[in-house]
Amino acid sequence: MIRTQKVRIYPNSHMTKILDDLCDYRRYCWNMGLETWNDMYDLHTIEPTNSCPNTYVVRNEMVRNKYDWQYKLSARTLQLAIDDLGKAWKNFFDKSQPDWGKPRFKSKKIPRQGFKTDRAKIISGKLRLDKPCDVKNWYDIRISKNSDLTGELKVVSVYRENGKYWASLPFEVDLKSKAKCGRSTAVDLNVGHINYTDGIVNTLPKKLGILYERIKIYQKGLARKRFLNGKIATKSNNYKAMRIKLQRDYGRVFNIQHDIIQKFTTKLVTTYDKVVIENLSVKDMKMTHVASKGLHRSMFGYFRQNLMYKCNWYDKELILADKTYPSTQRCSKCGYIKRGEDRITLGGNSSHGTRHNEYVCYKCGFVLDRDENAVLNLLALI
Ligand SMILES: [Zn+2]
Repeated sequence: MIRTQKVRIYPNSHMTKILDDLCDYRRYCWNMGLETWNDMYDLHTIEPTNSCPNTYVVRNEMVRNKYDWQYKLSARTLQLAIDDLGKAWKNFFDKSQPDWGKPRFKSKKIPRQGFKTDRAKIISGKLRLDKPCDVKNWYDIRISKNSDLTGELKVVSVYRENGKYWASLPFEVDLKSKAKCGRSTAVDLNVGHINYTDGIVNTLPKKLGILYERIKIYQKGLARKRFLNGKIATKSNNYKAMRIKLQRDYGRVFNIQHDIIQKFTTKLVTTYDKVVIENLSVKDMKMTHVASKGLHRSMFGYFRQNLMYKCNWYDKELILADKTYPSTQRCSKCGYIKRGEDRITLGGNSSHGTRHNEYVCYKCGFVLDRDENAVLNLLALI
């Protein structure tokens, strides 16, 4: 199985230049390859004796026409760029993947630029890229954290975004499935907290709330500038400075959210064999007290996706409750399902005088916290 770790890398000034050159080179190879591909295809349509373009033909053509400066850069960049171009064409013609567009030329204005290499190694905690013959100085690149993954390193992609450098390190690893413990749990997702059989996880810590508020202020500020000054507004230094602050906060929110979810899903697959969750892609909930609703909603999707692949890794069972399953309305003790006027709404039930956070069964008189009741209902599905 392949596991990928994304790490920040800190190249020195010499290697920064080399990484930048390789990013440019990858784009050059892709664009030249695409042009060659298109030309060959045109020639082939006019005169079928001309060879039809494929990865090998295009790559050979490009290697034949290499300029002197290209020998100072890693040969793997060209090889892998053309490989990816071939894959892009293959996906485009694959009828079962209707979403794939035609391969397009890449612009240097795109904020994220990168390249790939399959010859990189981790040498004493640093990233070592393959050194072309014509280059003298070459340094290993410091990595932000000690990689805890060991094994064979696959195709590494290095990229630059907002002036920072990152590397995706995919390792071939043998995962040992987690020990079986015979326990099961159910998870109920809510705004700001997640309930499960052993307690509650807070998904809206104070620091996240503060960030949400600030993001809202920045978004409003940017929108106001655009409204007052039109398109020119985006060119101003104030606007750019504010946008950088906004992006920085987006990054922080992303990190906090992913940290909470990652820790919780790891706990779930370690402590339980079976997990039941509701099968809702984006939960339809009123988020009255959450400032950045879209950002908070994205947590639900991420949670499900993350739990899915971890259960897969460690050979645990994930059960998705049907969308129509009445986990909120059902009594977990006697199975009575509230219907019509008796239904629990977000504000409880006014005709019966119950509060928003409690479940009161009208049949057997059972009283429980509303979310705990939902967890027990989901657990009843096993
Ligand atoms: Zn009941």
